[in-house]
Amino acid sequence: MSRMKAVQVDKPNSPLQLVEREIPAPGPRQVRIKVEACGVCHSDMFTVTGAYPGLQYPRVPGHEVIGTLDAVGADVPEWKTGARVGVGWHGGHCGHCPSCRRGDFITCATGQIPGISYDGGYAQYMLAPFEALASVPQEISSADAAPLLCAGITTFNALRHSGAQAGDTVAVLGIGGLGHLGVQFAAKMGFHTVAIARGADKGPLAKKLGAHEYVDSTAVNVAERLTELGGARVILATVTDAKSMSAVVNGLSVDGKLLVVGAAAEPIEVSPLSLILARRSISGWPSGTSSDSQDTLRFSVLSQIRPMIETFPLDQAPQAYARMMSGKARFRVVITPNT
Ligand SMILES: [Zn+2]
Ligand SMILES: [Zn+2]
Repeated sequence: MSRMKAVQVDKPNSPLQLVEREIPAPGPRQVRIKVEACGVCHSDMFTVTGAYPGLQYPRVPGHEVIGTLDAVGADVPEWKTGARVGVGWHGGHCGHCPSCRRGDFITCATGQIPGISYDGGYAQYMLAPFEALASVPQEISSADAAPLLCAGITTFNALRHSGAQAGDTVAVLGIGGLGHLGVQFAAKMGFHTVAIARGADKGPLAKKLGAHEYVDSTAVNVAERLTELGGARVILATVTDAKSMSAVVNGLSVDGKLLVVGAAAEPIEVSPLSLILARRSISGWPSGTSSDSQDTLRFSVLSQIRPMIETFPLDQAPQAYARMMSGKARFRVVITPNT
């Protein structure tokens, strides 16, 4: 068993390709993971298109990885083979840049990302530095846990640091890969949860996920509706459309915050007066570290939060990726490399 199957990108914009490779051996401070599940994230397009600065090819994508430690390199004191672990967007940090010296590892100046900085989870095995590992509770399956390491942690960690308190109105803009988890987290954190999406048909799903209110943005003016509800203390923007974000700012309460986690390409437009008069703000949030991943998994088990997923075997990774990019997946796509 010295060979493995992996799916790689040979150069920017070339198709995902199933290849055979040597199973890599972990160096010092590294572990090897036998991958059980890897979520397919919209950010995998950085690897497919070459849009991320400094990317080197060939590269195996994938940064929502769950698997079992099957080899441990030198100088890894705490982790043992057989442990089930996860690796998310936070794939390692340098330890000596100004952010790291403050203990703020997710903003590390040279932070590593699996599937971008090194080969990720679209493979039967992968290597990771030990500081990127999260421990996975036994109550959750690997396929369910995988999307929680990017879509999950991003919404969970943004909400828990948002300043909103139990009972406050929190709106989640968009019910997709991120939003369907954001609605569940917001409801289980005790917020008056308002889900916002396009079309009446998403209403029953939003309620099933725990939303107390559903706003169909194609039928009503979202900002006016939120104002009728007293204004949102936080609007978690999970969509990738900047115009939809611009349209909700006036639905924020006094001191309300538009919290952006959807990577829209276009600028958000906002009236300065709208920000000034009600002390509103706009900020972003970058997922979290491996210990935040661990917290996300634990909270999900505690609150019975799970992603809705579609699974594909490794040799169908191109179809899995296309399915995710089509926007039609309900709601996260997961590859299972060793089944
Ligand atoms: Zn991601
Ligand atoms: Zn650093």
